[in-house]
Order: sequence, then structure tokens, then C-alpha cells
Amino acid sequence: MAVDKDQVLTALRAVTSPRGVPLPDARVLSEITASDGKVFFSINVDANEARAWEDVRGRAEAVVRAIPGVTTALVALTAERRPGSAPPAQQQHSHQQSHGVKPVAQHRPHGAPGDSPMAKQAAIPGITSIIAVASGKGGVGKSTTALNLALGLRDLGLRVGLLDADIYGPSVPRLTGVQQKPTVNEANKMIPITRFGLPLMSIGFLVAEDTPMVWRGPMVMSAIRQMLWDVAWGELDVLVVDMPPGTGDAQLTLAQQVPLKGVVIVSTPQDLALIDARRGIAMFEKVNVPTLGIIENMSYFQCPECGTRSDIFGHGGARHEAERLKVAFLGEIPLHMSIRTASDAGAPVVESEPGGVHAGIYREISAKIKTQLSGIAVSA
Ligand code: ADP
Repeated sequence: MAVDKDQVLTALRAVTSPRGVPLPDARVLSEITASDGKVFFSINVDANEARAWEDVRGRAEAVVRAIPGVTTALVALTAERRPGSAPPAQQQHSHQQSHGVKPVAQHRPHGAPGDSPMAKQAAIPGITSIIAVASGKGGVGKSTTALNLALGLRDLGLRVGLLDADIYGPSVPRLTGVQQKPTVNEANKMIPITRFGLPLMSIGFLVAEDTPMVWRGPMVMSAIRQMLWDVAWGELDVLVVDMPPGTGDAQLTLAQQVPLKGVVIVSTPQDLALIDARRGIAMFEKVNVPTLGIIENMSYFQCPECGTRSDIFGHGGARHEAERLKVAFLGEIPLHMSIRTASDAGAPVVESEPGGVHAGIYREISAKIKTQLSGIAVSA
């Protein structure tokens, strides 16, 4: 049974704002996306009132989820600082989004004490380390690398999860072949989809791939916060976060707000990609997230027929860049047909060809990351 926008609005009449106004009349709702049983919208409020609205968000999500035919409901709370209003007490992040909008303050208790920006972020119970896999621009193979590294870490005996934080272009559903929608447990937490032994979460599980979505900065953070904190991840040694590509405001806010242990930067060898990678490293440094190292993806072309190697993009650029920036160089992954076909068929090489040379390369890189994480620094 198809669920439409009007049904959602009717259900939302049962939920009132902190001032007692039914939600559809409170002028806070974004466009409502209702497609294929999946409903998504945001509640946009003044940052100073965000705390009072948290409960409303939860109730809105619950009534929408109760509509027959709704399989998934995701309601994001986004907060705007209206011109002239005082900054909310809990907003301590110095970064202001370009359109004068700040993300809503984190409503969770804060984690580690101290003064660093990382200390302002709440740890996620049960997760020992969160690492980001990032790139200065799209299309360099970041998501493919993130998934294969997560599998490599799994093969090293770690309990690993993968969060696809690429809201604009989630690729984890395609790379893992997962079409399933997450369900919710009795504690109202989303249950991640487990594939290849990895709990996975992606906005792509919640919203159809062809649904156009307009995300403003705070909506991105709100959705990612829910995918981090409102998911029953269980006990994990490492959660790998596949970051949105680039070094814009959304990425910076994310780097600030997610309690990251470190970041792995993926680049191709071309000069332009390396310039972007450098920007990425600088961005994470700015928010005190250490770079665990750089990976050169599509490092050289390996002919699938004869195995001959050609350095079509030049070669070694990322290694030199790592040396120059005094960060670890984690390894080179060739441009190879089987990596592409396996990935795009939902069967990443570490899983589908575990004895192959490419799986070996990913596992070697994973081992270096594991070493970094256990505190034995691999110096550049
Ligand atoms: P990003 O996350 O940086 O946008 P993806 O991981 O989605 O990039 O990769 C983009 C495309 O490149 C995909 O089709 C993927 O299969 C392919 N790809 C990634 N890494 C390799 C590689 N080492 N060899 C061949 N194809 C690759």
C-alpha cells in the first residue's frame, strides 16, 4: 500500500509543538518525501528551542512509523540560528556554515573531558574506535576502499561496522548489494543490516536511490547523528565512516562532531587529486583529527589479460605527498577491472576473491591501520 504525503500530514496532526500547535500548522516541516513506504522529512526550528523539540521529533517519527505501509521513517531535527537570536548555550563549535546556519547542538552527554574539539563529542557506547575514510574529491574510489578496508580489518579479527555518511551519493547499498530496509528495536534504535559480517548503515537503505533530496548543512548532520547514535551498533572495535567527498562545510562539521580517532585519505596519483587530498588533510588537522595515512588508489593500471602494469596517471604522487606532509603512506591499490566489477556487483574483492592479490593489498593496508589504532605509530 503506497503511503502519500497527505497521510503523513494527517498522522502528524496528532503531534504538537512545545507550544501546543499541531505540527502541520507549526510552520516547521520541510518537504515530505514519501516513496515506497519510506518517509523522510525534517523539522526546522530555532537553535535556541532545539532541546524542547527533540521529544517532538521522536513522537513525529513514531506516529509516521505507525502508519500502515510505512516501512521506514526518518525525521531529522535541524536548527537554524535566526538573525538577531543569541547563540544557544551548548553550541561551542567555532565553525559557522556558509549560509549562516549552525547545526543543532549535540544533545548527548559529552564524552572525554578536556579542551580539544574532540573532547566535545560524545563517544558512542560499545564502539572503541571510529575512523573516517575521506577524499578531497569524488570518484577516487573512496567508498570501494572504505568497504574493502572494513573487510580487511574484519579478517584481522576485529569487530567492524561501516557507516555510509555520504548523504548525497550513498554507495554502500550498491557496493554490498543490500536493498533491505533497517527495522527498529524495542529501544527505538535502528538495527543495522549485517552483510559480510559487518553491520552497515546508509541513508541509501532509507531513501530510494532515485529520490531527489535537497539537503541543507544542518539536515546532513542531523541525519548522520541519527545514523551514528540512534543505531544499535552493538560492540565494535572499529566503526569505519565513509565520508562524503570533498572539504566543504558539511565535511568539516562532520569531522568536528563525530568522535573520530583518525582519518585515512584516499587519493589517485594525479596532481589535481593530490591537491584536494592535501586540503582534506588540512581540514582534519584543523579539528585535531590525526591522519592515519594516505592510500594511492588507481595507482597503476594492471591489464586484466596479461598483468602488465602501466602508470597511466603517473605514479607515486601520493607517496611523495605523504612524505612531504609527514604522514604515513599506507599503500597502493592498482586500477584493475576485477576491483571495479566486483565492487559494482555488490561483492567487494576482499570478500569475493579473498585469496587474490587485491584482497592481500587491502588486508596489508588494514593491518597498518590496525597498528596505528593500537597506538604503535607508524611514522612517515
Ligand atoms: P568514490 O567513493 O570516491 O566516489 P567509488 O568507490 O564509488 O568512488 O568508486 C568509483 C568507481 O571506481 C566505481 O565504479 C568503482 O568500482 C571504481 N573503482 C574504485 N577503485 C577502483 C580500483 N582500484 N580499480 C578499478 N576500479 C575502481
